[in-house]
Amino acid sequence: MSGQMFYKDEFSAYLKRRSFLLRIGLITGGIFLNSCYKKIRSAKYNIQGALQGPDANAGHLLRDKLKLPSAKNTRKVKTLIVGSGISGLSAGRWLKKNGETDFEILELEKHIGGNSYFGSNKIASYPLGAHYITIANNDDALLIDFLKEIDVITHFEGQLPYYNDYYLTFDPEERLLINGAWQEGLIPDFGVPIADKKEVRRFLAEVDQLKNTRGNDGKFLFNIPLNSSSTDENYRKLDKITFEAYLKEKGYRSKYLLWYLNYACKDDYGQKISHVSAWAGLHYFASRRGMAANAAQNAILTWPEGNGWIMKKLAEQLKAHIKTSNLCYELKPISNGNTLVTVWNTKTQLTENIEVEKIILCAPQFVNNRLLENFNRNIDYKAFNYSPWLIANITTNELPESKGVSLCWDNVAYNTSSVGYVNAAQQHLNLSEDKKVITYYLPLCDFEPAIARLAAYSRNYEQWLDIVIPELEVIHPGITKAIETIDFWVWGHGMITPAKDFIWSKNLEKAKLPIDNKIFFAHSDLSGVSIFEEAFHQGINAAKQVINATS
Ligand SMILES: Cc1cc2nc3c(=O)[nH]c(=O)nc-3n(C[C@H](O)[C@H](O)[C@H](O)COP(=O)(O)OP(=O)(O)OC[C@H]3O[C@@H](n4cnc5c(N)ncnc54)[C@H](O)[C@@H]3O)c2cc1C
Repeated sequence: MSGQMFYKDEFSAYLKRRSFLLRIGLITGGIFLNSCYKKIRSAKYNIQGALQGPDANAGHLLRDKLKLPSAKNTRKVKTLIVGSGISGLSAGRWLKKNGETDFEILELEKHIGGNSYFGSNKIASYPLGAHYITIANNDDALLIDFLKEIDVITHFEGQLPYYNDYYLTFDPEERLLINGAWQEGLIPDFGVPIADKKEVRRFLAEVDQLKNTRGNDGKFLFNIPLNSSSTDENYRKLDKITFEAYLKEKGYRSKYLLWYLNYACKDDYGQKISHVSAWAGLHYFASRRGMAANAAQNAILTWPEGNGWIMKKLAEQLKAHIKTSNLCYELKPISNGNTLVTVWNTKTQLTENIEVEKIILCAPQFVNNRLLENFNRNIDYKAFNYSPWLIANITTNELPESKGVSLCWDNVAYNTSSVGYVNAAQQHLNLSEDKKVITYYLPLCDFEPAIARLAAYSRNYEQWLDIVIPELEVIHPGITKAIETIDFWVWGHGMITPAKDFIWSKNLEKAKLPIDNKIFFAHSDLSGVSIFEEAFHQGINAAKQVINATS
């Protein structure tokens, strides 16, 4: 049993309870990031909005292992899922699909969805994290089944899936601001010297060939989910060098190409080519080969609320099983072979014990490290590094334009810190010409993650404006006076970094193993690549393991 004796009499109970709440920051408000909307106004910019993020108090409680009040009761649940991100919801969906009814999904936040959470205001819904997936690889039967289930794939024409036209990105899709004008597409082209263009073409031809190459075991070299990729050592060894070293060795020097590759790695991994492995860098380009009856290869699927839409679809059948505002605090083995899980309800502020037969931890490994202090997992948690991100949802009356291609769904500027912005309104059917909400993505990768994270947590609203506004002014000169609101969201541990020697390391292999056939793991960080598809498959794999272990 965790916690300490707490409620002796009413008064001491009040005092102790208050001091506990003070310690976890619930009363002082000293830790300012959480998911509640609190409006702040910047006089300097005459802009208002909020500064939010995942529940910092809960994180603090776990990190410092503050003692909880004792639990008053213990109840039983057959299978507990911790975390309602894509991996947790996917695990729940699989259990339900296979006839399991006795399971619960606990989520520490007031809302479900993890990094696929979203927001909305009177103009539009918008993503706060994950915002798109590409059409499924045709050999990914489980994902294709799910996309059929939720009407993203409406039917098949011959062998090829037909995707719901409402969910394919509406045209125009992507543009890049380079050399003073917006060009179509994100690969630098406008004003780019011939020699650089040749190098870009050489790289694209190389990854195109890799995309269609199989290893000595007959599997594609790079595939989604990652664990269906070839084990061919000739290619797996690319995980032991950085993408930057690989590109240098191959003689790629064009500043335009290197900018594009840095952009791609920042976009998918939150880090530059110097910080991801060559295997991961190539995976971005060579793993997606989805074909459709009505869309180009690798076409993008998106919704106004980003992947929040697909997350809600996953959760639709699971409502009765989900409990939000429930922080899983600790796991303990008990003598009857079950596991005792201590849970802190952030709303009622009460502790509860749940005795479970099986548990699927769908939280990131830095959290599991805290939860599993009573177990010997024997892995190196320090190898798990997460990139912090800032997301800014900007409501503006106007987007002053430079010459060239007009507003697209994805809008990126060459040589800026961010990876650009998406225009959430693009997927709305009632497109409004006046007000827009644009979602701007800034990976915080100029310093090591721990330092960047600390700096991100320390900045106030106006300091974020000082970072974001100058870049917006480069992209859309004069925009500041047209902005109505900017809402910031900070992800301290946004995406797992596929650093060199991480994805195919013994450490990650060990981290995926269940403990005593009772504690199972599913989170995108266990794939090494933080994308919807990996979280989706992680959830299914863990649920399958639970079902097998039970039978
Ligand atoms: C800025 C950003 C942009 C992204 N863009 C894309 C994109 O466009 N496309 C894409 O495919 N992917 C994108 N991703 C990756 C995204 O992370 C994955 O697609 C997916 O949402 C990850 O799901 P998950 O279940 O693995 O993890 P998470 O989303 O991290 O879910 C874990 C859940 O566990 C909960 N939890 C943690 N600890 C506890 C505890 N102790 N008790 C109870 N609950 C707990 C958390 O609150 C969270 O809800 C993006 C990520 C970020 C940060």
